[in-house]
Amino acid sequence: MMRKEKAYAKVNLALDVLRKRPDGYHEVRMIMQTVDICDELTFEKTKEPGITLWIEGADLPADTDNLAYRAAALVLEEKKIREGVRITLKKRIPIAAGMAGGSADAAAVLRGMNELFALGYSTKELQMLGVRLGADIPYCVQGGTMLSEGIGEILTPLSTPPACHLVVAKPDINVSTAFVYGHLQADSLPFHPDIDGMVHALAAGSLKGITDRMGNVLETVTVQEYPIVGQLKKLMCGMGAENALMSGSGPTVFGVYTDQGKARETAAVIEEKKLAGAVFVTSFCRA
Ligand code: ATP
Repeated sequence: MMRKEKAYAKVNLALDVLRKRPDGYHEVRMIMQTVDICDELTFEKTKEPGITLWIEGADLPADTDNLAYRAAALVLEEKKIREGVRITLKKRIPIAAGMAGGSADAAAVLRGMNELFALGYSTKELQMLGVRLGADIPYCVQGGTMLSEGIGEILTPLSTPPACHLVVAKPDINVSTAFVYGHLQADSLPFHPDIDGMVHALAAGSLKGITDRMGNVLETVTVQEYPIVGQLKKLMCGMGAENALMSGSGPTVFGVYTDQGKARETAAVIEEKKLAGAVFVTSFCRA
């Protein structure tokens, strides 16, 4: 029997950091949103024990350095499973992009193995397993539109935004999440996005209410270090986006459009000027 799962990427419609905790973690408030860009995974049982991970479309480690592998190992160990699992991962989500690609894969492995081995974990239980591997994984278990608080483990489902079009552009630079959080002046941020206002705008179904409140405090570090991020935002806003923002710790920038034609034109210009190695015209989705 073979199981299949899709692992969807996310963007942050808003990302705020409240403080750095004494243990080094940052306390965040983020609005997470699934976008229609996904990796595909398949799962099969094998008689011989252990994990085989086969990756297509990316040069990534296929061992314990891979979050998908780590998630599989965690499940096999927790449930003392004697059989093995063969996982294929077709990678499409840009890597180290601020789109939670690795976390989405890990969450898909948790869901897929729960079904494959009929383990009977509840969603909540999968989320509690996932948080041991990464703060974004509990969100990725369910996806959709969520308020994420604490270090990412306190989740509140929100209304899906109204239909619109997105340009998602990942410039050809690698940004380390650790570098960005390490350089963030969490106690003296120049602004805080209006997260409560955005929650209300989502409930009211107001796209303008949402786009007016898009904000990400991590831009204070990344835009300064990598001017291309600011350049992409400016280009999108100049070409008809309601607003544009960096996702997570970057460097991916997404623009929100009401007009699909303008979104397509913007993507074409980004490709033509080679401002980003990966460019998508896509939309929000429920996962
Ligand atoms: P986040 O938004 O959670 O910070 P990200 O999109 O910035 O995530 P990922 O694509 O998840 O970053 O990858 C970050 C690092 O994790 C990469 O440098 C990569 O080597 C490693 N990694 C481990 N497993 C995976 C995986 N399954 N997919 C992608 N990257 C992985």
